[in-house]
Amino acid sequence: MPALAVKARIWRRLLSTVRRDLHVRLPHSRPVLEQMLYAVCRRNCSRDLADAAFSRLKSVFSDWNEVRVSAVREVADALAPLPDAFARAEQLIGLLQDVFESLYSFDLEGLRNKPSQQAAKQLARWHHADNFVVAWTLQYALDTHALPLDESTHRVTVRLGLISPDQPLASAASALQRQVRKDDAPPVYETLSAMAHQFCLPEPRCQGCCMRSCCPAAKALTHASATNLLRRKKPR
Ligand code: SF4
Repeated sequence: MPALAVKARIWRRLLSTVRRDLHVRLPHSRPVLEQMLYAVCRRNCSRDLADAAFSRLKSVFSDWNEVRVSAVREVADALAPLPDAFARAEQLIGLLQDVFESLYSFDLEGLRNKPSQQAAKQLARWHHADNFVVAWTLQYALDTHALPLDESTHRVTVRLGLISPDQPLASAASALQRQVRKDDAPPVYETLSAMAHQFCLPEPRCQGCCMRSCCPAAKALTHASATNLLRRKKPR
C-alpha cells in the first residue's frame, strides 16, 4: 500500500476507533489567556493531571496578576504534583509578564477577531510562548488550523510511522498538520495524548493498545521487550 494511504488509514483509526475507545473529549472552552496558560500545564501531561493543576492554580490565587507577582516557588507549589512544576511556574509567570508588559491587561479576547496569521505572530512575539503554547492557543482558543505537539505525542506519531524519527519537533508538527484536515484537527492532540499516557508510554504497552494491528513499531518493540525479558531470565 502506498505510504500516504497507510498514513490515511492510521489517522482514520486514531480519530474514530481510538477516540471512541479512549473516551477522548475536546479541551474545555476557556478565555484566550487561560487557554494559553493551560497549555503550559498540559505539555507532556495527561488531561486529568493538567486539569487538576490548573484548577488548583485558579483556586489558590485570586487572579492572574497575583500569579504574575508571586514567587516561582509559590506557583510551583500550587501546580504540584505536576511534573517539572518549577519550570512550568517560571514559564507561567514569564508569560503573564510578557502579556502585561505588552498590553497592560490580561484580556486577549481581541485576538479572536484578528486574521489567523496576525494572531499567530502576536502570540509568537511573547518570549515565553513556545511552539506548543502558540499552537495550542491557535487551535483551541482561536479555532485556527494548528497542531500542538509535545515530546509525548511526538513519540506516538513516530512509532505509528506518521513522521520520521529524525524530524525535529517543530517541523514534525507542521508535517503532521499537513496530513490532517482543519475540521479533523481538534481531537488530534487529545487522542494522541490519551495514547501517550495509557499505552504508548516510553516503555510501551503494545499488548493492550488499540493501534497494535496497524502500528509499524509494535512488532519491533514487542520483539525487543521479549528479548530483554529472556535476557533477564537467563540463568547465570
Ligand atoms: S502498538 Fe505499541 S508502539 Fe504502537 S502505538 Fe500502540 S503502544 Fe505505541
